[in-house]
Amino acid sequence: MKVIRKISELRSELTIHRKAGSRVGLVPTMGYFHEGHLSLMDVARKDSDIVVVSLFVNPTQFGPNEDLVKYPRDFERDERLAKERGADIIFYPDSREMYPDPFLTYVITEKLSGVLCGESRPIHFRGVTTIVAKLFNIIQPDVAVFGRKDAQQAIIIKKMVADLNFPVEIIVAPIIREADGLAMSSRNTYLSSEERKQAPIIYRALQKATEMVQRGELNAGCVERSIRQQIETAPLARIEYIEIVNEKNLEPVKTIDPGTFVAVAVWFGKTRLIDNVVLIDLDR
Ligand code: AMP
Repeated sequence: MKVIRKISELRSELTIHRKAGSRVGLVPTMGYFHEGHLSLMDVARKDSDIVVVSLFVNPTQFGPNEDLVKYPRDFERDERLAKERGADIIFYPDSREMYPDPFLTYVITEKLSGVLCGESRPIHFRGVTTIVAKLFNIIQPDVAVFGRKDAQQAIIIKKMVADLNFPVEIIVAPIIREADGLAMSSRNTYLSSEERKQAPIIYRALQKATEMVQRGELNAGCVERSIRQQIETAPLARIEYIEIVNEKNLEPVKTIDPGTFVAVAVWFGKTRLIDNVVLIDLDR
């Protein structure tokens, strides 16, 4: 596995592979790998000859009072894990490499980036779409893999790819969870032991909602109230939002159908956790 820090070097390396007819897969990450990240590498591996993992804690997607500086980092561990998981290249640029000074051009997916997480994080998705567009232009992957954990992000990226005609296939891989149901996240390391104990209430509430829907409750308001009541039983939980939305436009729905999912953001102390589930599984 190669570690490449310069755009020019990565381009030359990938030109060789493309000339040899290799299919290139990209897994964009901010590092501090857990099984969620590693599962995306497996998915990319199945679908491509060369797997590029990008590791960049992207400053433009953090708001002024967010956790950019304290975001967990451990490159040596990440390098080892990615290598063990069969990645071919880690692209690990620094900020100067990715953001020439001054940097004046951004990609914005309107509407979709202003709702759900976009309400409390107004510049977040602009940062995400901009860095992902840059990675697509630098790497020109045939396929890129994102996690359903960040459902809104995946939906926005698919829309950006469709709107701007990026020649890349987007695969969205399932959420990987801890044994107690908590969705894996690099930010889980911020939780105190008491917060960590209470955090699985999020997934339990979402599972209970799925059961309600399976029993025939399709009223989004009722299901949302049930999720709220459940999560509120955890004394340290502070709900930011619970929304049942349409998969295409992220607009709230009144009636649950196969095109809807529930997304939540819940604070435990200073840590903001997100999760989501599709309430009616089309494959059932
Ligand atoms: P991050 O490093 O947090 O920016 O995440 C990089 C990629 O990993 C994104 O596509 C995330 O959606 C995905 N990801 C993060 N956590 C999980 C998880 N628990 N399960 C599946 N994918 C995940």
